[in-house]
Amino acid sequence: MNRPIPGTVEVSVRHILSDRTTGFLTRTRRITWQDNLSRVRRPASGKQSVELTCPVCDASLLAEVRTEARTRRTSAVLLVLAALSVIVFFAAFGYAVHEGGRTLPEGQSLPVLFPVSIASIFVTFVAAPVLFLQGRRYNGVTMLDAPKPRRIHGIMPVRG
Ligand SMILES: [Zn+2]
Repeated sequence: MNRPIPGTVEVSVRHILSDRTTGFLTRTRRITWQDNLSRVRRPASGKQSVELTCPVCDASLLAEVRTEARTRRTSAVLLVLAALSVIVFFAAFGYAVHEGGRTLPEGQSLPVLFPVSIASIFVTFVAAPVLFLQGRRYNGVTMLDAPKPRRIHGIMPVRG
């Protein structure tokens, strides 16, 4: 269905119709939106600004498009960072378990690296999946500007 056309990228212009949080003890967030497919031409080099129009409300959105080569590079960097986060996570985890499980002699405190490893575990635990998803989804198109309120619009990647 979505046959890739060289030099172009397909994105989805998202208009948030409503975003409501209901409930008191158990909060439920209900978001409804409308997506509209749009094809954007990639520049021959560097990056280029393009204007997209939201078909729901006619708002004009400013987006930045990068070349395919640059998009692939950024995506690869994000995936490498995700892989590094996984490695750091396991290394820090192993270290924390090792150091934390030791019985220390009286009066000796844990090494400085111990809290660092605990912090690394938390940071990489969050960063790894985020970087991985961003790397997978990155299509070189980012929204630069939109009329206020900005959050009602988004430019979403479309899987080719
Ligand atoms: Zn709109």
